[in-house]
Amino acid sequence: MEKNFVYMFDHPEAKGKEMLGGKGANLTEMTRIGLPVPYGFTITTAACNDYYDAGKKISPEVENEVTASLKTLEENTGKRLGDPRNPLLVSVRSGAVHSMPGMMDTVLNLGMNDETVKGIAELTENPRFSYDSYRRFIQMFGDVVLGVDSSLYEKRLEDFRNHYGYKSDVELTAEDWIEIIETYKDITQTEAGLTFPQNPKEQLFLTINAVFDSWNNKRAVTYRKLHDIPGHLGTAVNIQSMVFGNMGDHSGTGVAFTRNPSTGESELYGEYLINAQGEDVVAGIRTPQPIVDLAKEMPEVYQQLAETSQLLENHYGDMQDIEFTVEHGNLFMLQTRNGKRTAQAAVRIAVDMVKEGIMSEQEALLRVDPDQIDQLLHNHIDPEHKQQKLVSGLPASPGAATGQVVFDADEVELLANEGKDVILVRPETTPEDIHGIVASKATVTTRGGMTSHAAVVARGMGKACICGCEAMKIDLEAEYFTVGDTVVNKGDIITIDGASGEIFLGEIPMIAPELSDIFQLLLTWADEEADLDVRTNADTPEDVRKALEFGAAGIGLCRTEHMFMAPDRIPAVQKMILAETDEERQKALERLLPMQQQDFERMFETLQGRPINIRLLDPPLHEFLPNKEELLVEVTRLQLTAPESEELKEKENILRNVRLLEESNPMLGLRGCRLGMLHPEIYEMQLTAIFQAMSGVMRKGIDVTPEIMIPLVSTVDELKVMRQLAIDVAQKIEEKSHQTFTYLVGTMIETPRAALTANRVAEEADFFSFGTNDLTQMTFGFSRDDAEGKFLQHYVEHGILPKNPFMTLDQEGVGKLVESGIALGKSTKPGLKTGICGEHGGEKSSIQFCYDAGLDYVSCSPFRVPAARLAAAQATIHKQKQKKKALMHH
Ligand code: ADP
Ligand code: MG
Ligand code: MG
Repeated sequence: MEKNFVYMFDHPEAKGKEMLGGKGANLTEMTRIGLPVPYGFTITTAACNDYYDAGKKISPEVENEVTASLKTLEENTGKRLGDPRNPLLVSVRSGAVHSMPGMMDTVLNLGMNDETVKGIAELTENPRFSYDSYRRFIQMFGDVVLGVDSSLYEKRLEDFRNHYGYKSDVELTAEDWIEIIETYKDITQTEAGLTFPQNPKEQLFLTINAVFDSWNNKRAVTYRKLHDIPGHLGTAVNIQSMVFGNMGDHSGTGVAFTRNPSTGESELYGEYLINAQGEDVVAGIRTPQPIVDLAKEMPEVYQQLAETSQLLENHYGDMQDIEFTVEHGNLFMLQTRNGKRTAQAAVRIAVDMVKEGIMSEQEALLRVDPDQIDQLLHNHIDPEHKQQKLVSGLPASPGAATGQVVFDADEVELLANEGKDVILVRPETTPEDIHGIVASKATVTTRGGMTSHAAVVARGMGKACICGCEAMKIDLEAEYFTVGDTVVNKGDIITIDGASGEIFLGEIPMIAPELSDIFQLLLTWADEEADLDVRTNADTPEDVRKALEFGAAGIGLCRTEHMFMAPDRIPAVQKMILAETDEERQKALERLLPMQQQDFERMFETLQGRPINIRLLDPPLHEFLPNKEELLVEVTRLQLTAPESEELKEKENILRNVRLLEESNPMLGLRGCRLGMLHPEIYEMQLTAIFQAMSGVMRKGIDVTPEIMIPLVSTVDELKVMRQLAIDVAQKIEEKSHQTFTYLVGTMIETPRAALTANRVAEEADFFSFGTNDLTQMTFGFSRDDAEGKFLQHYVEHGILPKNPFMTLDQEGVGKLVESGIALGKSTKPGLKTGICGEHGGEKSSIQFCYDAGLDYVSCSPFRVPAARLAAAQATIHKQKQKKKALMHH
């Protein structure tokens, strides 16, 4: 097996992304199709793994290959690394398989030293440029390779500017830079304890080491965790000859998107800076100019850029995010990748590309990530309450948010953990702030453009963000900002609108979102493709209405206990629980009956014949009684103040009952169908409410198709008794009303025993609904609240569990019970209807699993329905593709 660790950009057998990383693969591809890419080579991810395997050492094989490739590069460019007369300068760029913008390190201008800087100055007849590049290199090398705090260099530069009264770096002369370079070397010496290395080869290998190391820096690890990127992949390293955007006014650097990443509109979109080097744009240090200005400043370059971006988009069949540099009027391409975008843009681009004939509906459906969809269900500011804005900036990522102003990322994280809504406000953000952006409701920066770090990261996460808000002056030390005369202190509440870029003082009411026409269209395509119904969990008539708006095919779980919880019903519920005689209990139930019946009537009417799965009462009864500690305090108080009172008697009675009902492990106690077995009158009341409502609504000519669900069954005999109860109640009402009802009676499969004996359980069930919340708890043997609060985080962080099993179905364990449960159930009853009603019903990988396992439907909360519809379509398409592949192999 040929085992190369290094590939030139024009290597005839170029490897893919897995080996070259995304950046390297695309530089190679752009070179192949003839675009102007500065020449260079890629050290593979395999070399990175080799480096880690060898205990963080570059092996002789890798070193030899790098040296050989460097030689090729030198021959090709006619320059030599370290040659004082005609030196080669290179960038050393990280580049992982999955793009991780700004998370790892890159060093520019490598090869600069005390000799080559003079050579470049002479060659370019531009000493100012040459010394500027040298000081940039020392700073980046110090930061990335030697771990020197970058702000020390910046502070030094700032002091220098202030001392000489310079307003910006552009004013500094070559002599100024020479002076600064000397002090930069001093800083490096003091901070890192070693002399800045003059030997370019040494510079190169130290930097390659550092880029490999950056794969495991804190921000890269955080980013990977956030985006589910495995840690074993490693990064590639690209060595590329430099081109210079900082050579004067005919040079510059920029970033462009082939379509608008915020709205999806089809237009060249981006920003650039004249006389600047690459990192200046992304770092958000100067606020760049919009790309349209380039059409005026350098019309030919603009034309070429527009054509190239079109070409790249067609070539990759997706919206591209491009880095370019202009050196003396010549355009160079430095990077292209599929662009990150908001959900809104993702949907629009997918639908547009179908209309433009670039892709099929199926492909378009695969292009939108269901996880991103809930962004479209963002709140926005209620226009009725729109106020005078305080200030505005660039609308970098849509969504509206209210929160208190905080200036420090660590503090944001702290407050957010306490449950506070926080908005991070910074002059600019760096990758070190990522945990703050994650924890905040929104981010605001005063500098930087739409392609700055904060904007890119926020868009990827679907968080609101405003950038380049220049009228805002921040004092980080004193922790406040001003806009004109207005002072906003840390902790003050502001509201921001990421879609318009506006910032307001105080809190403003928000309104819930609606689905756009384009999104509706995409979802119609999804429904056509999907072989799996998406239902919703809804407990109230309002939920049902909302869910139908979002396109639910029916109700997968209606939890009737929520009908007991309303404040006007709780007294009757408590009376029912506390009743000492059967008559008392019956009376209380009779008061509840019409209320529940009314709820069902309204839901049935709204559903217009769509199925509704109604679960009879599930939680333990003590949940409807007051809290024991509070009662104790109350009783003690009354014993002292009003020992003879009626109130005391009543409270003592309640307390006694609370104690009676108390269980050492309520999750495993008297709940679900066990309640129904001991107190059939409660279920009887609920069933009466259901069938009387059904009778009434049917009379109006509306179809009703209820599915009565018995919870927490662990043996078929429980179900048998409960099923008979349902049939008896239905029959009684059928006889009275001279109607015939069509309904199903089935069970939730949420105990391992029910799953294991599903063939028996199916004898008495028309349907199974897998209650994967409880099933997960009981399969693992831990309760969700305790697990999530105490050890689950630790487990996930240490790789003991890949994911939180309450969010993503544990396919290996719980999934096995689901699969065998379906198979066993269908062995008894081939026509058995099956679904899932845990939290998992809205999560894409779990939906794929449910589809593959052969379920008829998934059910999730109303707001997740659109994402689930898309995921259901994707699951179907993926399966079809697999089948096709399998056929082809035959
Ligand atoms: P990141 O992944 O953080 O964007 P890059 O490796 O893309 O890091 O480099 C950072 C910046 O430096 C980018 O703007 C890039 O265009 C610029 N850059 C990288 N290599 C070169 C080069 N050889 N010549 C000119 N600019 C470069
Ligand atoms: Mg880049
Ligand atoms: Mg349950």
